[in-house]
Amino acid sequence: MSAATFEYHTPSTIQEAITLLTQYNGEAKILAGGHSLLPIMNLRLAQPKALIDIGKISGLSGIREDNGAIVIGAMTTHYMVESSSLLKQKVPLLPETAAVIGDVQIRNRGTIGGSIAHADPAGDLPAAAVALDMQLKAVGPRGERILSAREFFVDILTTALQPDEILTEIRVPAFAAHTGSAYEKFPNPASRYAIVGAAAVVTVDGSGVCQKASIGLNGITGKPVAAVGVEQALIGKQLNNQSIQEAAAKAADGLEPLGDIFASATYRAHLARVYTKRALTRASGRV
Ligand SMILES: Cc1cc2nc3c(=O)[nH]c(=O)nc-3n(C[C@H](O)[C@H](O)[C@H](O)COP(=O)(O)OP(=O)(O)OC[C@H]3O[C@@H](n4cnc5c(N)ncnc54)[C@H](O)[C@@H]3O)c2cc1C
Repeated sequence: MSAATFEYHTPSTIQEAITLLTQYNGEAKILAGGHSLLPIMNLRLAQPKALIDIGKISGLSGIREDNGAIVIGAMTTHYMVESSSLLKQKVPLLPETAAVIGDVQIRNRGTIGGSIAHADPAGDLPAAAVALDMQLKAVGPRGERILSAREFFVDILTTALQPDEILTEIRVPAFAAHTGSAYEKFPNPASRYAIVGAAAVVTVDGSGVCQKASIGLNGITGKPVAAVGVEQALIGKQLNNQSIQEAAAKAADGLEPLGDIFASATYRAHLARVYTKRALTRASGRV
């Protein structure tokens, strides 16, 4: 199948793109790398009247340090995230996660903003977004607003972004001292999307006691979620095999896991516990 006909625009400023989105009144879509949008258009699951390609807007791509935080433009590709020495040093969870997305062609075109705005429950970066509680800047006709990742994801392919808003940049604090992170996923053997994945960030004090733990899970429900029970169980504990095992056992508590042809709900809950334990074990070994 091929996509239904659509109009195509290449604005050169964010303001121009917002004006177009407003004119189409919810019937236009932003085009970033096109690696999620074009497949669903070809299947006619999406039939937007127009595509607004933001690839020609300058300033939307790149990674920079700003006042103790790392700021990433929405059009920064997965490859740029994967290969950034600044991120490897300051927020290593992101390059590690971007490096396991699909294959090299996908990573060369797909963007961090597209992956987060698309909100595929099996997407890799959304799990890291939750674990890092990213600050996401949305710009629209009513001005700018900042959304935290934990409030951004609403449901399958649904976010708190309004149809006339553009995600322009992502802000993440640089890791504090004694922080370690890891991303572990059980990949679909064909697409490499996560059937279930876990992104973990832990910070300990000088004697190895956990001060902060943050875990984002993907694939388990319709949106990436924080494993709050695991996070709470780790605070104040010495990080070791036993405390990690006990905390990870809570990974699926309170969640209603999805079931599909790839994995039943029961199996997904099991994977959440196993992959949370693996991610926490590697993260704590890296603090
Ligand atoms: C074969 C294949 C395998 C893949 N494997 C994986 C995988 O293993 N893991 C994984 O995580 N992903 C995988 N992907 C998806 C890939 O990561 C996509 O690049 C990503 O999900 C979407 O980014 P994009 O830039 O291509 O966005 P697009 O496809 O251009 O857009 C996706 C959606 O987000 C909206 N959007 C995009 N940018 C913005 C913005 N700045 N503001 C507001 N809305 C915006 C669009 O309107 C659209 O609705 C795979 C894709 C393919 C085709």
